[in-house]
Amino acid sequence: MKKFVNYLCAIALLALTACNSATVITPETDAVAFTIDGGEQKVSVTTDGTWSISDCPGWVKTSVEGNVISIIAERNETGALREGDIVLSGKGDVKAIIKVSQVVKCTHITPSADKLEFGKEGGTQTLNIDTDGMLQVEATGGYTATYAGGVLTVTAPSNDEGAKRGEIKLTADDQSITIYASQKGNTCKTCGGSGKITCPQCHGKGWYPIQAAGGGACCERCGGYEPGVTDGSAGEPRTGSGRIKCPDCGGTGKEQ
Ligand SMILES: [Zn+2]
Ligand SMILES: [Zn+2]
Repeated sequence: MKKFVNYLCAIALLALTACNSATVITPETDAVAFTIDGGEQKVSVTTDGTWSISDCPGWVKTSVEGNVISIIAERNETGALREGDIVLSGKGDVKAIIKVSQVVKCTHITPSADKLEFGKEGGTQTLNIDTDGMLQVEATGGYTATYAGGVLTVTAPSNDEGAKRGEIKLTADDQSITIYASQKGNTCKTCGGSGKITCPQCHGKGWYPIQAAGGGACCERCGGYEPGVTDGSAGEPRTGSGRIKCPDCGGTGKEQ
């Protein structure tokens, strides 16, 4: 019997020395954060030997495959932030710690930029979003926006109309941010898209001076009315608007 026990000890010793316990354990990140809904996150570990998980908070499940740890958290129903350490142990007191935390609701939504600009041909652009929430995305102005894995993707179709604007709204719990999108359009360069230019007759005043008479006349070119000049009839004089229809786009505001 004693011989048998010695034999077992020898095997155990062999197994230990063959195991080649790690003297270096370097996880790719030292902190993992979960949203209220939880989920699974993987962390790979760089090491020179074997290691094991020696401590782990009770609300987290872990499994190891090769040098990749899967960390799983269920939905946080506790109503409070929970935090803890996953401890990886190797040879002797060689250790590495991965901090895990799980929020109850979204604490921040931080985009890498707060505006997007598209050319009139449209296209797709992305922004990185740092958040711990489950984002709801809402887009106005004809833009399409989707969010997945920390990346917001915004698409603008080509724009044959005038320049346009829109908003991408990201919401999670009581956090909310707006990203402003704008797109160049097919606008008339003469009038800048307004369809109107300054009246050349009165230079925008709606009337023009007549030096000889020491006064002025209402500008008919831009819609004014001058009794006795226009058609000889009487009536109240009326100044013009000072603006006329753009001759280059015919008043549409679009490039022809
Ligand atoms: Zn005028
Ligand atoms: Zn025009």
